[in-house]
Amino acid sequence: MRTLATVQTVTTAEPIPGADAIEKIRVLGWWVVVKKGEFRPGDRVVYCEIDSLLPEVPDFEFLRPSSYKPAIVDGTGTVLQHAGFRIKTVRLRGQVSQGICFPLSVLPTGTPDGEGADVTEALGVRKWEPPQTGSAGRSKGNFPGFLPKTDETRVQVLEKTLARYQGVEFYLTEKLDGTSFTAFVRAGEFGVCSRNLLLDTTDDTATLVRVAKALGLEERLRTFAAARGHDVAVQGEVIGPGVQQNKYGLKELALKVFNVFDVSTYRYLDRSDMLTAVAELGLEPVPALGTLVLDHGVDELVALSEGTSTLNPKIQREGIVLRPLSEVQDDYLGRLSFKAINPKFLLKYDE
Ligand code: ATP
Ligand code: MN
Ligand code: MN
Repeated sequence: MRTLATVQTVTTAEPIPGADAIEKIRVLGWWVVVKKGEFRPGDRVVYCEIDSLLPEVPDFEFLRPSSYKPAIVDGTGTVLQHAGFRIKTVRLRGQVSQGICFPLSVLPTGTPDGEGADVTEALGVRKWEPPQTGSAGRSKGNFPGFLPKTDETRVQVLEKTLARYQGVEFYLTEKLDGTSFTAFVRAGEFGVCSRNLLLDTTDDTATLVRVAKALGLEERLRTFAAARGHDVAVQGEVIGPGVQQNKYGLKELALKVFNVFDVSTYRYLDRSDMLTAVAELGLEPVPALGTLVLDHGVDELVALSEGTSTLNPKIQREGIVLRPLSEVQDDYLGRLSFKAINPKFLLKYDE
């Protein structure tokens, strides 16, 4: 479960040009617009990230006019998404504001409130999950334990990590807004997975199964694994008709690969080996956006995330993903890899 609400210290307060009732404060690597004087540098606050869904309790009722989202219930009465107040990226007087701050008094008495304390559960904050697109199909079980799930940490919570890796060469790829795809060959078995599930590959109605079949992926992976002498998985983003409103305007479903994984040694291939493997498999990588030697803070990387999509210059790209050219395991983060989301994309599409 993602940590959405934490105790943090306000580090900066700055005016917003042309605005006298509001100002911006800095919490972690985020900028949050607040009433002037409401919070001061050094204050400890409860900070809730974007995608938080706050419960309908008196402290949060003031959000009802702007942010209320009713529950989503399916045909069988199962709650797919609880009701609550949804925190998203907004722009106020030209300033992008991401997340919301509260005084510590919103915490139930006795809640540990030291710097960094995770208060997501104490406050009853849930993650806002936009309804899934695409046909999920039947699943055969949980995501296999012998593979890592796909995920990327937001750069705004990684100020210390950025400081540690200054001078390291990173490559950038375009973050695509589709749906996560994993396929593997392991101990003679071929499988296809969505973000969290192992799929039943006999169900041809499933978007991801159809993609795997159209690409002949089972045979390609088997051939590749046999040639290399180890088990292998590929992970990428499926985009196209039926997925996330097909923002890129594609005519057919496509798979864009961002990981090749050696299942036998539980290791991601480094950038150049990965690209060689992707080519050998006859697949396509996610769009490459060059490299940089890290000399950047959060705001600079967020600025770099802005731009249009390589796949369709008419639309804002979702963002960028940064990774070192040679894989690095970080003590705090695990795999060194993170995302910067384009604020213009969030303002336009994040409904
Ligand atoms: P959050 O963790 O912020 O709640 P999330 O985990 O639901 O969000 P995303 O914000 O979409 O998901 O970020 C991670 C996902 O981005 C990965 O799981 C992967 O499917 C997808 N992705 C798209 N393009 C890329 C890329 N170029 N490199 C790596 N992952 C990518
Ligand atoms: Mn995530
Ligand atoms: Mn996504």
